[in-house]
Amino acid sequence: MFGLMQEHPLLISSILRHAARHHRGARLVGVDHHGRIERSSWPELAALAARIAHGLHRLGVRQGDRVATLAWNSLPHLALYYAVSGMGAVLHTVNPRLFRDQIAFILADAADVVLCVDPALLPLLGELSGQLPPSLHHVVVLGEGKTPALPVPAIGLAELVAGESAEYPWPRLDERTASSLCYTSGTTGHPKGVLYSHRSTVLHAMAAVQPDVFALRAVDVVMPVVPMFHVNAWGLPYASPLVGASMVLPGPRLDPASLHALFEGEGVTISAGVPTVWTNLLAWLRADPARRFSRPPRLVVGGTALPTAISTGFWREYGVSILHAWGMTEISPLGATNARKAENADWDEERFLDYSRKQGRPQFGVDLRVLDGSGRPIAEDGIAFGELEVQGHWVASAYFNRPGDPAFTDDGWMRTGDVVTIDPLGCIEIVDRAKDVIKSGGEWISSITLENLALEHPDVALAAVIPVHHPKWDERPLLLVVRKPGTSPSAEEILRIYEGRVAKWWIPDAVEFVDSLPLTATGKLWKAELKKAWAHYRLAG
Ligand code: AMP
Repeated sequence: MFGLMQEHPLLISSILRHAARHHRGARLVGVDHHGRIERSSWPELAALAARIAHGLHRLGVRQGDRVATLAWNSLPHLALYYAVSGMGAVLHTVNPRLFRDQIAFILADAADVVLCVDPALLPLLGELSGQLPPSLHHVVVLGEGKTPALPVPAIGLAELVAGESAEYPWPRLDERTASSLCYTSGTTGHPKGVLYSHRSTVLHAMAAVQPDVFALRAVDVVMPVVPMFHVNAWGLPYASPLVGASMVLPGPRLDPASLHALFEGEGVTISAGVPTVWTNLLAWLRADPARRFSRPPRLVVGGTALPTAISTGFWREYGVSILHAWGMTEISPLGATNARKAENADWDEERFLDYSRKQGRPQFGVDLRVLDGSGRPIAEDGIAFGELEVQGHWVASAYFNRPGDPAFTDDGWMRTGDVVTIDPLGCIEIVDRAKDVIKSGGEWISSITLENLALEHPDVALAAVIPVHHPKWDERPLLLVVRKPGTSPSAEEILRIYEGRVAKWWIPDAVEFVDSLPLTATGKLWKAELKKAWAHYRLAG
């Protein structure tokens, strides 16, 4: 017997319709590349999205077509999220920090038909003009700026929407229809496309607002610092209107002073970003005792491991709490968050701050398992390692244009490539990427643990641990260190930090001092490049 309840497809257009109808007073704030503040509201954004959808239709965009964006976090970008997906086309957000060749590759792989470009990124468009894919028939410039010479016509946003109606008959799509496309950063090999659906996006947004995830409410003012090209800004452009929250979109200027001005000036209550953003903000705050928060916001951090020194500093000195989240492009991205549960509800703040180095536990809708090298579940003791696999309503089942990728198992799980422990509270802790663990005589050493400990040395600015060849042990850890300006610690001094903290055989065999470390387009240590650069390194003795 079936239930007798209504059934409506889970559509992205329904989120904006809700916010425009029921949350008219929420504020939308965008900062353009000149630093000028624009103000809007959900009804105005809905009208802009409708006019853009009409304009794109006029240019020839149809259901299933891919429309790319090369844009920072801005109001026009937010309107495109709803215009493109709402009309049944696919929003392809492109990371401008990727290499030119990678951008050219993904534009061609996606076969984008229109490319929408932030005025701040017009110089990049100029560099790409000779590598645009044959499928592309128009460029739309999201503001004013000098458009470079292009092989296809370019029009401005104002021209695109001129004379168009502020109402659009958003189609009642099958909820499984593709809505957006995002490529993984591809530190090795080509980037891979993850194709989200309306259903997965709406379910992810409903999960994201829960108390143990982003805890979003209508009274919140949400500022995604995480870019809208990095896994849909972690779902915040959908989760915020779903609860009717206000939003602040900071544009290209993400320096601590500009962000702090927005926190204070716009009353931001919650913001999300990678650890470097918060590390820089904390250092900037500390540089002048007059720099405070009049109302401490909540911060969400993810993308790479959170150094506990950062969460502790924010909490003790500024009353700012940080939620640690784990995710991946393939998981929309939310997989786990580290919020308290029954077992640790009564821990004091200091104990929980230390525990928040762990990535957390899944919300309803995502399940996980951790398997050892022979495919058996590992002991849930917080010590044994294994590879994390996930499944759920917003987890990819395949990559776009790449059938049969080994990341997807025959029994419906996705291999994350993350090596984790899982403790008796069910909390995972990432100890490494499967490809980055150091395999010393058949045993695994976590490069991340060694990096985090090195960062505790007061003179270490950046640290990376990579495997180097060893005749007996196969691989041994090499620690690469960027020293803080004006300091000159010796290798021995730095290695002392490991004594009594890790097993003796984990301690790096050597330390080399470098001026900088390469980062990927999403700001993570670029291990593949480092391994290549140090491939011929020979350990002394
Ligand atoms: P991306 O798809 O570019 O977002 O990268 C996903 C990968 O980032 C994951 O597989 C992890 O290796 C890493 N990652 C994401 N969140 C965290 C976190 N909180 N701590 C450590 N690593 C993380």
